[in-house]
Amino acid sequence: MVESHEAKANNLKVIFLPFLSTSHIIPMVDMARVFAMQGVDITIITTAGNAAIFQKSIDRDFNRGRSIRTHVLEFPDKQVGLPVGVETFNADTPPDTPPKIYYGLAILQPQIENLFLELQADCIVSDMFHPWTVGVAEKLGIPRIIFYAASVLSRSAVHTLEQHASHTRVDRDSDKFTMVGLPHKLEMTRLQLPDWMRKPNAYGQLMKVINDSATRSYGAVFNSFYDFEGAYEEHYKNAFGTKCWSLGPVSLWANQDVSDKEERGDKRVEEGNSDLLKWLNSKKENSVLYVSFGSLNKFPTSQLIEIAHALETSSHDFIWVVRKNNDKEGEGFMEEFEKRVKESNKGYLIWGWAPQLLILENKAIGGMVSHCGWNTIVESMNVGLPMVTWPLFAEHFFNEKLVVDVLRIGVSVGAKEWRNWNEFGSEVVKREEIGKAIALVLENGKEADEMRSRAKALSEDAKKAILVGGSSHENLMQLIHELKSLKLQRLKVNTKDL
Ligand code: UDP
Repeated sequence: MVESHEAKANNLKVIFLPFLSTSHIIPMVDMARVFAMQGVDITIITTAGNAAIFQKSIDRDFNRGRSIRTHVLEFPDKQVGLPVGVETFNADTPPDTPPKIYYGLAILQPQIENLFLELQADCIVSDMFHPWTVGVAEKLGIPRIIFYAASVLSRSAVHTLEQHASHTRVDRDSDKFTMVGLPHKLEMTRLQLPDWMRKPNAYGQLMKVINDSATRSYGAVFNSFYDFEGAYEEHYKNAFGTKCWSLGPVSLWANQDVSDKEERGDKRVEEGNSDLLKWLNSKKENSVLYVSFGSLNKFPTSQLIEIAHALETSSHDFIWVVRKNNDKEGEGFMEEFEKRVKESNKGYLIWGWAPQLLILENKAIGGMVSHCGWNTIVESMNVGLPMVTWPLFAEHFFNEKLVVDVLRIGVSVGAKEWRNWNEFGSEVVKREEIGKAIALVLENGKEADEMRSRAKALSEDAKKAILVGGSSHENLMQLIHELKSLKLQRLKVNTKDL
C-alpha cells in the first residue's frame, strides 16, 4: 500500500546539532529527548568524545521505546593537532585549544552537511554556534531552528544594546546605564558587558553572523518557560522577527528517573554518590548551601581562599563543587580547609563532576551560590531555590538581572567585571561580601522568606509548564504541528513537480 502524504508527514525526522561544549550539549540533548518523548524521530549529531557525555541517557530512552539515536563522527584530532579526546569546551580545556576545536568543527562541516541530506531531515535544530546550518537548511528547503543555551532576556538585551547603544552614552566603564526598550528597567555598567560589546573583536564578528542566522531561521527555541521569561519571549519575536518557543525546563521534563539525574553529564562522582547522599540526608531541611560555578570555570587561589573563609564562617553547612587550578601552594590551603570542614561535618567538597540535579532536589538544600549559568538557574528554579548570584562570563551578567531585579529571587554578591571563561580576570570578591549575600539568602527574615516563597511559586509554575496544557507543553505541540504541516506542504509540492 502506498503511504499517504499525511502519514509520511506524521513521521517527522528532526536532527539536533549541539555545539561541542558540555553546557550546550546537556540542555540540547534534554530538549532532543523531550521531542522524542512526543514520538518525533531524533538523531543527534556529535563527535565521539562529546557523545560520551550523554550516550547513556540516549540508550535508556531507546530502550524505553523512543526513536532516538546519536550519529557519532570522528573528531579530526590529528589534523588539528590535538590529543585524542580533547574536543570539548569545559573547565579542563587547555588555553591554546579552543581555536583547534573550532578548526576541527570546520573540517567536519561538509560531513555534517551530507548527513542532513542522507538522513532526510525534516528540520534542523542547530546550536547558535553553527550559523552555517541556516544556509544548508535553505538549500534543502527545510526549517532551521536556532537553539540558545542562554536566557531569552540575554538575547533580547544584546539585541537592544546593538540597536540603541545605551552603553556608549556614559562616560566611565563603571557608570550605570539603563537598557532601552526592554520590558523592565534594567541597569548595568559597561564593565559587566562581554568584551566584544565594548570593543570590536573576532568574537563580535561571529556574533553578527549568528544574529543574521537567527533572523533567517524559522524560529528559536529556549530552555525557559512562560512564567519565567514570557515578556522576553514576546520581545525576542519582535526584535528578531521570527517565531520563538520556550520549551523548558527541559532538565525537569527529560530526566524523570534517578538514573537520568545521577548520570547527567556522565561523569559520576568517582566513588559513586552514596557518601554524598548520606551526608545530605543527615542534614536538616533547607539548611545546606550548594555552591557551584558550572562546567567551565576555574578560580585563582586568591578567590578560592575568600570563598573558603566565607563558607567556614557562615552559619550554614555547604556543598562546594571545586575545580583544581594547578596551583601547588593553593592545594595545601584547600587540603587543610577540606580536612577541617570534614571533621566538623560542616562542608562537603566535590572535586569532580557533581550530580547537580540530584543535589538540588534534596530537601536539605536551602539555597545556592551560582555563577548564573543559564542551565543552573533553570535547574535551581525546578526546585524553587533562592540564590546568591555571582556572574562571571558569557551572558551571566544579563541572567543576574533576571534573577535579582525581575524575578527577585536572588541577592547579588556584587561582581563588577565580566571576564573570559578561560581567564581568571582581576576581580576577587571578598569574603565579607560573599558572607553578607549568603546570610541575606539563607537566614530567616522578611526579605529571605519572601524570596523563598517567590522561588517556590516559580517552581510550581515550572512543573505546570511541562504538563499537558502547560505553556511549554503547548509550545512544543504547536511547534511539532507546524513542522508536520511544513513537511506535508513539501511533500505535496514535490509530487506536483514530478
Ligand atoms: N553540571 C553538573 N555538575 C557539575 C557542574 C555542572 O551536572 O559539577 C551541569 C549543570 O547541572 C548544568 C551544566 O552542567 O546543567 C552547567 O551549565 P550552566 O549553564 O549552569 O553553566 P556553564 O557550565 O555554561 O558555565
